[in-house]
Amino acid sequence: MNHFDVVIIGSGLGGLLCGSILSREGYHVCVLEKNTQYGGCMQTFKRNGSVFDTGIHYVGGLDEGKILHTFFSYLNLTERLKLRKLDEEGYDVIRYRGREYEYAMGYQRFVDTLARKFPREKNALAAYTGKMLEIGETVNPCKVRENKPVTSKYLEYYNTSYDHFLNSTITDPLLKNVLVGMSPVYSGVRDRTPLYIPMMIHSTYIDGAYRFVDGGSQLGDLLVKNITDCGGMVLTGMKVTRIPVRRDHMEAVEVNGTEYFTGRYFISNIHPKNLTVLVEGNAFTRAFVNRINSTEETYGMFSLYLSSAGHGFKYVNKNYYCYHTGELWDLGNYSGDTWPKGYMVHFSPVSEHADRTNAVIINTYMKWDELTPWIDSHTGARGAGYESFKKKKAEKLLLLLEKDFPGLTGKLATWYASTPLTYRDYTGTHEGSAYGILKDYRNPFKTMILPGTHIKNLLLTGQNINTHGIAGVTIGAFLTCSELLGKAYLKKKICHG
Ligand SMILES: Cc1cc2nc3c(=O)[nH]c(=O)nc-3n(C[C@H](O)[C@H](O)[C@H](O)COP(=O)(O)OP(=O)(O)OC[C@H]3O[C@@H](n4cnc5c(N)ncnc54)[C@H](O)[C@@H]3O)c2cc1C
Repeated sequence: MNHFDVVIIGSGLGGLLCGSILSREGYHVCVLEKNTQYGGCMQTFKRNGSVFDTGIHYVGGLDEGKILHTFFSYLNLTERLKLRKLDEEGYDVIRYRGREYEYAMGYQRFVDTLARKFPREKNALAAYTGKMLEIGETVNPCKVRENKPVTSKYLEYYNTSYDHFLNSTITDPLLKNVLVGMSPVYSGVRDRTPLYIPMMIHSTYIDGAYRFVDGGSQLGDLLVKNITDCGGMVLTGMKVTRIPVRRDHMEAVEVNGTEYFTGRYFISNIHPKNLTVLVEGNAFTRAFVNRINSTEETYGMFSLYLSSAGHGFKYVNKNYYCYHTGELWDLGNYSGDTWPKGYMVHFSPVSEHADRTNAVIINTYMKWDELTPWIDSHTGARGAGYESFKKKKAEKLLLLLEKDFPGLTGKLATWYASTPLTYRDYTGTHEGSAYGILKDYRNPFKTMILPGTHIKNLLLTGQNINTHGIAGVTIGAFLTCSELLGKAYLKKKICHG
């Protein structure tokens, strides 16, 4: 009999975190994953001896006492993860208009480092990081007194424009662009991005940015182990195909069109637009369905995976954001000629070497429209036209890379590429968007998705709740599990052991 206390649809980070938390708190959990591999964006793939991350290149908030360290300690993960701390003096480097600007870890060091290049903006930078610290603390359950799912401060930061804040705090246009330089990690859009998103994400990196050694799938493996150690199950090849609802209550999900899994509670870790298709009848109100389906998506990514013979690439303990355009808010607004306006470079740490690697990953925006000819195709069977499209993009990117990092492509043995179509097919994210629904400060109640739904025993989790990224999804999982366990109880368990 497939009966559980909690059935979770999807084994992305949000699903596995909720499974881990609830298993630990005594619930009998089953996670259903449609793919043969669990983990969603935490999946890695190995080709030509190189291990490539698909959706986790660095993670913040892992210094002792910081937000993710606290959560991961509660889940017994911190000691078991293989991590390498990025360069504290400059974990991210923004290459813009022929110069390099480093983001350092620690609030004061961040200010001091940038102030060396922008001395007149030192006070402004202090105000900027002061706001970042304030926002970082607002989402940290261990720092917030209120036990409501959404605090009034959170709402205030959500319906304020990041761009307005930037303009009211920083004067130098060059520095503004340097600060917008990390926008690909949150898919920034000038007239959409809420203050909350970049500030919360940036605060976690300042609080300790790390890379996973030998790939980020280790996080998924440990979370699965947590669940199975408590008697729960994580089942792959289990696609949820239908969700019958009786009035406002669920009893089961249909899997692969044949099998049923029943439960007391259900948690959806899949994109909310896909969930609205699976839920039968009028269980979700028309207003809710319309609201979800009319949201915009974040940009998808074109990713280039570079593999060397042996460990041929020099390992660099920093991420690079390289730009070949003037206005950094404008990255997604490209034509065939101006693509790519910028790209990110991530060097993957390997356990065999401290200063060499065989895997380098390049990510850059790709608009969904570019993929129109292949929208009805599936991974591995998209045809020669798609392969030649990827090849042209890859060659363009490789030329740019060689200009920016002379000698790097000389070490290249082979490359692989993925597009937003790959993400659509693997993780089910709508239109292959990297970070799910685009948050919009102008319309917080439209784009802010809360864990509770009209179906009394169905909750939501994952990157569309709260925000994306390891820290964002972890806070989201906390909010989701709080609906079952109580926020005050869970907060006490996580924050006080
Ligand atoms: C290119 C890229 C780079 C990124 N880099 C970073 C980074 O460096 N640092 C960082 O913190 N974050 C990064 N992120 C973001 C981060 O990876 C995501 O925010 C996070 O992993 C999303 O987790 P999720 O819980 O929403 O689940 P997802 O990863 O979206 O997983 C959802 C799961 O549900 C499964 N599923 C879907 N439909 C069904 C169904 N019907 N039945 C059963 N299962 C189903 C899918 O197969 C998938 O396994 C990156 C993302 C991308 C795309």
